[in-house]
Amino acid sequence: MKADLAVIGGGLAGLALAILEAKAGQQVLLFEKKSYPAHKVCGEYISLESWRFLEALGVPLSHWDLPILSHLQLSSPAKMIDLELDLGGFGVSRYKLEAALLDLAIQAGVQIHTECEVRAVTIQANGFLLQAEAGVFEATRAAGSWGRRSVLYKQAPQAQNYVGVKWHLQGDMPADLIALHNFEGGYGGMSRIEDGLTCFCYLVRSERLKEAGSILALEQAMQQENPYLRERLQGLQPVWDEPLTISQVSFSPKATSHQGVFLLGDAAGSIAPLAGNGMSMALHAAYLLHQQLDQVRQGHLTENQLAAAYDQAWKKQFKLRTAVSYRIQGLFGRNALTTPLLHTVAALPFLGRQLMKLTHGRDFIPPQT
Ligand SMILES: Cc1cc2nc3c(=O)[nH]c(=O)nc-3n(C[C@H](O)[C@H](O)[C@H](O)COP(=O)(O)OP(=O)(O)OC[C@H]3O[C@@H](n4cnc5c(N)ncnc54)[C@H](O)[C@@H]3O)c2cc1C
Repeated sequence: MKADLAVIGGGLAGLALAILEAKAGQQVLLFEKKSYPAHKVCGEYISLESWRFLEALGVPLSHWDLPILSHLQLSSPAKMIDLELDLGGFGVSRYKLEAALLDLAIQAGVQIHTECEVRAVTIQANGFLLQAEAGVFEATRAAGSWGRRSVLYKQAPQAQNYVGVKWHLQGDMPADLIALHNFEGGYGGMSRIEDGLTCFCYLVRSERLKEAGSILALEQAMQQENPYLRERLQGLQPVWDEPLTISQVSFSPKATSHQGVFLLGDAAGSIAPLAGNGMSMALHAAYLLHQQLDQVRQGHLTENQLAAAYDQAWKKQFKLRTAVSYRIQGLFGRNALTTPLLHTVAALPFLGRQLMKLTHGRDFIPPQT
């Protein structure tokens, strides 16, 4: 049977869109190449702008006793500063959050195909034909929420690639703190999530890891270099034997559609992780696309206007914050630049608050369905 919408990729963006569209009465297929629940490389700091959105979807955040992160520490090897966050965030693992969204998607009637990679999408006269591991599927519309990289979207090789590494740790860590520590070639965030655990996730230029020879050697060098990072890690022990890693992380501009498939989340463009806003952007983009699809259903937009309307809404929300995050990332992980930046922000805290504002959005919430 032909579905109304095929969602390719079941991370935060894909699950949120699938739930919203299924609740709006659409027949939705969702394809996820991995299985649930799973850990993902991510700092697991979510800006509070998406708290009410997630609760409106049905995620019982208020009952999870999650840490609310309102205090930021920023360090380079030679300087550390403290800032209060105007908006702030909360900490929750991707494992827990995606499992909850998956349950909600199933309850909403989304037909989920896990361990099912979509390998090709072809436009037909009245929709799309998807070749997936579980067979061939048809849908009137298709949305690509496949994250940073996919077989469905060929990207030119990037000059600068990063490696992402994540640990879950247990031990001493203030519940309201998000710490962002810089070292030559990268930066790492550390903050509490559920059950008293701490997420430590860092991004490092791939050459720096190559030079170090191994993750263990790299982490020793990072701690020797940055005393604030070393001190913070002293009270914490890993709960896993090995960290979770991803490679070939790059930040190149993308688009909001590709061969007729609407793109959202990291598939449409990623913000630099230091902003701690990628997850909120993924959720918010799902909401924006759902709003535009609703406009078509209500006759306020034509099919021909849909792609341009979504593109405009996406750019209005995300273009500036993404661009600002890349500029800041250019100053991070370079000790000669990060230390003067921290001295400047210490002298002018207003500037720090402005930079944070520019890389974040506002609270958004769907109408109750
Ligand atoms: C090191 C690092 C730290 C970060 N820290 C933070 C942070 O603290 N806070 C924050 O807000 N953001 C953070 N981010 C960004 C955040 O992780 C992303 O913005 C967010 O995961 C995007 O969600 P998404 O749904 O678009 O993509 P993803 O979560 O990547 O989901 C995409 C899904 O699509 C699936 N998929 C891919 N191709 C196919 C296919 N062909 N068929 C079927 N399935 C497919 C994948 O398996 C995956 O599950 C960080 C990113 C990095 C790299």
